[in-house]
Amino acid sequence: MSRASAAMGSRTLVGKYELGRTLGEGSFGKVKFARNTKSTGECAVAIKIIDRQRVLSSHMVEQIKREISTMKMIKHPNVLNILEVMASKTKIYIVLEYVGGGELFDKIARQGKLKEGVARRYFQQLINAVDYCHSRGVYHRDLKPENLLLDSHGVLKVSDFGLSAFSKQVREDGLLHTACGTPNYVAPEVLNDKGYDGTTSDVWSCGVILFVLMAGYLPFEEPNLMALYRKIYKADFSFPPWFSSNAKRLIKRILDPNPLTRITIPEILENDWFKKDYKQPCFRQEEDVNLDDVDAVFNDSEDHLVSERKEKPVSMNAFELISRSQGFSLENLFDKQMGLVKRETRFTSTCPANEIMSKIEEAAKPLGFNVHKRNYKMKLQGDKSGRKGQLAVATEVFEVAPSLHMVELRKTGGDTLEFHKFYKTFSSGLKDIVWTSDSNKEETS
Ligand code: AMP
Repeated sequence: MSRASAAMGSRTLVGKYELGRTLGEGSFGKVKFARNTKSTGECAVAIKIIDRQRVLSSHMVEQIKREISTMKMIKHPNVLNILEVMASKTKIYIVLEYVGGGELFDKIARQGKLKEGVARRYFQQLINAVDYCHSRGVYHRDLKPENLLLDSHGVLKVSDFGLSAFSKQVREDGLLHTACGTPNYVAPEVLNDKGYDGTTSDVWSCGVILFVLMAGYLPFEEPNLMALYRKIYKADFSFPPWFSSNAKRLIKRILDPNPLTRITIPEILENDWFKKDYKQPCFRQEEDVNLDDVDAVFNDSEDHLVSERKEKPVSMNAFELISRSQGFSLENLFDKQMGLVKRETRFTSTCPANEIMSKIEEAAKPLGFNVHKRNYKMKLQGDKSGRKGQLAVATEVFEVAPSLHMVELRKTGGDTLEFHKFYKTFSSGLKDIVWTSDSNKEETS
């Protein structure tokens, strides 16, 4: 079993950053919360960890280097800022500004569809981000809900611009499989792989995103990939009755299967529906951005490599440890943590570890998950046939004290909206094993 002292007590440092919990697992690998130990001001960052060999052996090193350099120079309010890049012998670390407001789609999972005006405001910010990066020659190529984050003021931040070459998209049987589920957001010309223009395909994905914001569900959804492809190729979708006619007209022009006649960003900026209550983004272009770190990551020299190093355990008792987990019960995490559902959550239990493992298994099996166990880690993998089936969840049990365990649950793959639906049912199946302290009961009642 993972001993809490080993897992939680020692510090892992990379360069000047102390690595913390895993924030998520995306198409590149893990994203970790980290703290800049040298900073006197804002010290929270997010670090994307990527397999270095995969990048260096790809044919796209020059493109990746160029795009990361450009992204480091871009300081746009709606684009997640790259602060620095570092490399060890085996990994590349992309240090990003940390945003604490969760994913935009958590909002939909909780509240359902957004009001038209609210959806428009997010869409305007999305188009501003995409337009600006395109003007710098950087395309996203993989816009999807996981890339739309919110800061603590609710401002939209688009992540992963310029990082598409790292993405673990694979083609099997002539079909595109993305690391996180099916390609619901991908333009028809990308699916048929005849070479495509990043500008128009990003516009298509923005159209799918706008539809989901206003509808609360996807425009193209089918249980199997071939049927989904057919719908996307023909742009075969229908509008729910609550969409205004101006919104419908715009979405129809965006979800045009022909990239040559599809609406362009300059035309979107002139569209009446889009322009309502539009606020011009205001920001200053950073002039002196040092790109030495980017050069160092991509050249062969070992001079600037960092290494992950562990520091002596910081002693922490069980109660300090639990208080770090921010909540004592699933409900508490589910409802109260910044009003958001997290992709990663923890709870404590006084049940024996074996019993916790069996309960998790019992709760997951009826939901159609295959359970793979290894020691006190478990992977719940949906069967691959359907969209829902693509979900994957990792869990791990840590021993905090002989009769106290902490359980971590993390989404590792699958559609965000589906994950939220799954999590609601799953967590109610675990109620019996979650430990709730008396003081916490009072607080939450
Ligand atoms: P990605 O690899 O970008 O799909 O990231 C995986 C997950 O990590 C996202 O869905 C977010 O929930 C989380 N995440 C990524 N970047 C950040 C960030 N800069 N700040 C906070 N959370 C992040």
